[in-house]
Amino acid sequence: MSWTNYHSHTNFCDGKYPPNYYATEAFRQKFVAYGFSSHAPVPFECKWCMKEDSIDKYFTEIQKLKDRWEGKLQLYYGLEVDYIPGIMGVKNPFIQDLNLDYSIGSVHFVEAMADGTRWEIDGAHSTFLQGLKEIFGNNIQRAVTQYYEQIRQMVVEDKPSVIGHLDKIKMQNQFTPLFNENADWYQEEVFKTLQTIASSGLIMEVNTRGLYKKRAVETYPGKWVLEQAFKLGIPVTVSSDAHHPKEIAGFFTEALSLLGDIGYQHIHVLLDGVWKPVSFNENGIVS
Ligand SMILES: [Zn+2]
Ligand SMILES: [Zn+2]
Repeated sequence: MSWTNYHSHTNFCDGKYPPNYYATEAFRQKFVAYGFSSHAPVPFECKWCMKEDSIDKYFTEIQKLKDRWEGKLQLYYGLEVDYIPGIMGVKNPFIQDLNLDYSIGSVHFVEAMADGTRWEIDGAHSTFLQGLKEIFGNNIQRAVTQYYEQIRQMVVEDKPSVIGHLDKIKMQNQFTPLFNENADWYQEEVFKTLQTIASSGLIMEVNTRGLYKKRAVETYPGKWVLEQAFKLGIPVTVSSDAHHPKEIAGFFTEALSLLGDIGYQHIHVLLDGVWKPVSFNENGIVS
């Protein structure tokens, strides 16, 4: 039995330690493959993104680790790339030139406030509320709909290897109940997005960060979304979105057992340079 994880942040962005700490811990925990996915640079102020001039060092560092761990642990060079229409995405020439092993496409930024500050869906709750008021006149349905529209656009136009934390916007509900996941309009938005993902053939991640950070009671996306995803035949990968080496397999047993209960028999992993389905049980993947 072994694990894989392709969503992780090091001190090149907002993670806590240099990449080698994560590789060492991954080997200790019997991982077969591990991927680095620092937040890609964006052309505006972003405190948790990698700086553009760090990219070369990031590549060199991971290349060095790949050589050091060869034959023991497969390591992959990736980025979590923000999709912001017309501004940033996997198709951006800067990202294309990096020849990444894989990419995670995520939507964190939807619209901007009057002073130009980008509105973050998973940032501080007070900033979320400020943007909700300033940009959307406190209309949560309009805000959430725009978030999912942006994800659909990313799936169609950007085609990252993996769709990041699909319903992460729900984390804001833990501070103020803003929308109900059972509302018809919300479920329709999610379902429309899942249909777009299913048609694209892209892999969707099951992200456990909300669980071990206690920001959500379920994975991103949660159970009912994964049930629909399973019915639509959407392939999934399990990732922890680790910002600390101790988080690299956080709540993986729970996530894999949930996927098994839903009916998934395979998860997708990047092995020998290609994404492929592998069998699993709650103790890890069978490769
Ligand atoms: Zn993210
Ligand atoms: Zn992340």
